[in-house]
Amino acid sequence: MFAFSHLFTGIVVSELFEQADILWSATRIFAASAIITSFIPDIDGLFYKNLKDHHKSILHMPLFWAALVLALIVSGKVFGVEVLEAAGFGTLVGSATHLTMDFIFGRTTGLRILAPFSSKEYSLCKIYPQAGEIHPIRCLGPKHMKFYRENKLLCRAEIIIVDVLRRLPPQNNAEDCTTSDAVRWGNEDDAVEPPGPAKRRIQMPRGIRGRQDKHTLVRALYTI
Ligand SMILES: [Zn+2]
Repeated sequence: MFAFSHLFTGIVVSELFEQADILWSATRIFAASAIITSFIPDIDGLFYKNLKDHHKSILHMPLFWAALVLALIVSGKVFGVEVLEAAGFGTLVGSATHLTMDFIFGRTTGLRILAPFSSKEYSLCKIYPQAGEIHPIRCLGPKHMKFYRENKLLCRAEIIIVDVLRRLPPQNNAEDCTTSDAVRWGNEDDAVEPPGPAKRRIQMPRGIRGRQDKHTLVRALYTI
């Protein structure tokens, strides 16, 4: 799966969590962490000569991400820092999304689920390591793209992800924004007080601006 497709998947998944309003999913820190970590493991492709080798790095090691998530959530709870907790849950969602996609759709290399204790690779589909003997930068060439298109499951999945991305709910309008929405997205001044008891308030520093920034990001990606 291309790195951009991982990024698109991260945006879609973080949006689904956001709409379900689970745990910290409605905060900007959660969204930013989930989106960044859904993409960042494939940065390791820059440091390997062959595409088939890039899953050997620490960024494709589930135990590394598990340790990072645990450290963020535990330190957030111990020191009472909500930002760390939100970042921990966002990192959990983003990294798990990336590694799951690699496990399902990987064709040139599997996932070393038990690394560093075992180098055995696991994957849902059959692996063709010889097709991964190409520099990651050159994987957009015609030869590798022919191999890539043969993976019908992956091609369909990528089309579905882009289609879901295009159907994300539109950006909130200030006049439709309730107090709880405004607190989430940082537009508290524009809020219209809803009837009934006040909803929970989460104080988060300004970073990525939730759904509004996701749409800005998606629009920017479509122009590339
Ligand atoms: Zn990957």
